[in-house]
Amino acid sequence: MAKLVFYYGSMNSSKTAQLIMTAYNFNQQGKKFEIVKSAEDTRDNKVKSRALNIEMGCAPINNPDDLYRVATTKSPDWLFVDEVQFMNTEMIDTLSKIVDELGVNVIAYGLMTDFRGQLFEGSKRLVESADSIREIKNQCIYCQNKAIRNMRLLNDMPVFEGEIIQPGGNEAYVSVCRSCYNKCKKDTEIRKRE
Ligand SMILES: [Zn+2]
Repeated sequence: MAKLVFYYGSMNSSKTAQLIMTAYNFNQQGKKFEIVKSAEDTRDNKVKSRALNIEMGCAPINNPDDLYRVATTKSPDWLFVDEVQFMNTEMIDTLSKIVDELGVNVIAYGLMTDFRGQLFEGSKRLVESADSIREIKNQCIYCQNKAIRNMRLLNDMPVFEGEIIQPGGNEAYVSVCRSCYNKCKKDTEIRKRE
């Protein structure tokens, strides 16, 4: 039976590196796979890992039909999805259909929560639908705790307001634990009042 698997982790937890390493092994083993990613945040057709300094070609996906078409025309046995948090509910439901109707195994990688600490739409739907949910662990940049939040930085200062996706934005993200996130948020609020 084909499965829908969701690997989630905070920013810089080497999710894409894991995708690339698995795809690389599948390639060596002669397994048939395709890589896709949501075109929401970027227009390029590559998945890149800073950790590995490797990139692989992928199909940018704009809508559920695009997604289903990749699965029917290329008929892979495995479909890798990068940056899956940017897919909407309909696209995640299409991934379920690809698994159940076409028998394709889908392995999706992405973030669980946005910079406000709330579930992305696509990640929420995956939690509701995936056969298996696996965590890729990462440490807080400030302490030894597990990082579960993605904090947005603008000019090296944490920000807690704004759009969820900032196309072409010059912001950066760091992985932090809940405690450090809340401390930074409190400090930011105090600084604003001064
Ligand atoms: Zn921390």
